[in-house]
Amino acid sequence: MGKLSDVIFSATNFVANKIQQPAVILLYHRVTDLAADPQDLAVSPANFDAQLQHLKAAYNVLDADQFLYHVKEKKKFPERSVFITFDDGYADNYLEATPLLEKHAAPALFYITTSKLNTTLEQWWDDLERVLLTGRSLPANLNITINGGAHQFNTASSQHITDTYYALQGILRFCAPDVIDHAMQDLYTWAQCGPEGRPTHRMMTFDELKAMAKNPYVHIGCHTHRHPAVGMLPFQQQLEEIGQSKEILETLLQQPMKHFSYPFGSRKFLGTKRYYNADSIRACKELGLEMVCANYYGQVHSWSNPYALPRILVRDWSLDVFKTNMERFFKM
Ligand SMILES: [Zn+2]
Repeated sequence: MGKLSDVIFSATNFVANKIQQPAVILLYHRVTDLAADPQDLAVSPANFDAQLQHLKAAYNVLDADQFLYHVKEKKKFPERSVFITFDDGYADNYLEATPLLEKHAAPALFYITTSKLNTTLEQWWDDLERVLLTGRSLPANLNITINGGAHQFNTASSQHITDTYYALQGILRFCAPDVIDHAMQDLYTWAQCGPEGRPTHRMMTFDELKAMAKNPYVHIGCHTHRHPAVGMLPFQQQLEEIGQSKEILETLLQQPMKHFSYPFGSRKFLGTKRYYNADSIRACKELGLEMVCANYYGQVHSWSNPYALPRILVRDWSLDVFKTNMERFFKM
């Protein structure tokens, strides 16, 4: 906050929320206790438990079909409507989040990235952490070519290594999947390690996902096959990335996929870089997807675009912080 554009954005939200009672979509990634969480993606099971209890007591938690109905039919949402979503498909979604959803009778929609399901491989942003930040001894310099561009990093101290980690996160998130895979292979060679991931950072197995999808409080959607910033890809590749995850999930779960969320999904762009664009929306429509979530701050109204809905990221907040934030989310 503070920048003029941010002030205008909150003022616009404030007015819209006065005109019509909004709904809020919450975005989670993981529910588990982690020793380190440099991307700040995990909510502890204790905090998630308390957050769900509060949501059920003070809000109207809609399920995926109810939410889709309001979005598609452009109907005003019931008062204090909340929709719970998860991105990526980590194993803890099944092992730790689902039992708590069931305990509180709270429905949620899980958007699943398919390429690393049923493997011991980590998503590249976790893999980068595993290679760089888990205390292995590393060379003092890293020279790496990414997408034809030469990059040089000082990795002589732990602070330099942390800086390198954040710099590479920033570069790789706008790269095509093949470029990311190639960079990770180079990093394994440089760090003298293999691709085998940590059990704490694995995705679900096929059996876990199938079992989770049978839970009455769980709804499944797709989130691409390899998790690229689709806005950086040509239309045909966007169609393939999104379509492949849809097809894999439909075959595995024997149910139609209507829901999708853009990887990363933020509207904060760096120069010409885009997490999603008009071609992404076209691809989603062509594939028959009916409701698509992005990842930028805002509330949902009857007039919201069903192909780029705002979501609000939940961090590992204690109950008090969560309560205060929830009140604010409905206002501005
Ligand atoms: Zn994601």
